[in-house]
Amino acid sequence: MPAEPRVVPVPCSFGPTGGVVYAYYIDAPQPALIDTGVAASPAGTIEPALRNAGISLKDVRWILATHGHWDHIGGAHAARSLAGPEVTLALHQADAELLGSRQAHMRPDGYQALRFRYLDDPEGLKKQDALIMENLSGEMRADRELQGGEHISLGGDISIEVVHTPGHSPGSVSFVLSGLDWAFTGDSVQVCGSSGIPLYAEPITYGKSQKALLEDVRPRRLHMGHRFKALDGGAFESVIDGPTVERAIRDSLAIHERMAAAAREVGSFDPANPTAAALAPAAAALGLPEDPAAWPSPLFITLHGHLAARAAATA
Ligand SMILES: [Zn+2]
Ligand SMILES: [Zn+2]
Repeated sequence: MPAEPRVVPVPCSFGPTGGVVYAYYIDAPQPALIDTGVAASPAGTIEPALRNAGISLKDVRWILATHGHWDHIGGAHAARSLAGPEVTLALHQADAELLGSRQAHMRPDGYQALRFRYLDDPEGLKKQDALIMENLSGEMRADRELQGGEHISLGGDISIEVVHTPGHSPGSVSFVLSGLDWAFTGDSVQVCGSSGIPLYAEPITYGKSQKALLEDVRPRRLHMGHRFKALDGGAFESVIDGPTVERAIRDSLAIHERMAAAAREVGSFDPANPTAAALAPAAAALGLPEDPAAWPSPLFITLHGHLAARAAATA
């Protein structure tokens, strides 16, 4: 078994509501940074934290993005500028557009806009678009676009296998340290999300990814992008070990089932004309309050995915 590298978790604040996203530095002969926080994170949070640990972004040879959401790649351009000239930034090809274009985060039919379309709230959408703009540090191409299945050597006997775990986003991956079975999953394992509702755009691939992690990858340690809520109302820390890993993934599968059941409570539904009223039976089944404005944003995105999949299957 390879020696266990030091992993430095760096919590990065983002957004107006106290969000925290974790970047991880893997201290290998060719050091890797998993995710980059938002635009201000590399200079404001990550580099100071690494300096405290006696290391620096300048040493980083790999910037590995778990997926293309702005809280994870917002700092990519800034981190790449602070890293050495030999750095390679890698991201799955299915999320590459989110790195290449700010506009790709703001599509009127994109996942970020769904809540505001359901609530018919164009002003709210404008505010959110402005927030996303200021949290993306630049537009760029990945040095290497991933497909899943790659092995990336970090030098010595430390290497990473790229496992495509889509669902949360199409290009979500898990980076797994070979021989140690430590997985860096970003948002691929949502458990019950940050709000009690998991966020995934593609319900079918999401379920398959949870099963693949549970049955095939079987990680011994998870490094997640956020702290996520557990099914019993508790919370999982961002780094979990041993039997807690299996419990988190089983919780993810259980809440996925619960979301599917809630979606079945929704009657006729036109994905082109989403209204909050249409989702009310599902929200009630999940124990949410009556006022749609109080529903967490992932409710709209995740239910929309279930309903769109149903519409596609019956079309
Ligand atoms: Zn995400
Ligand atoms: Zn995230």
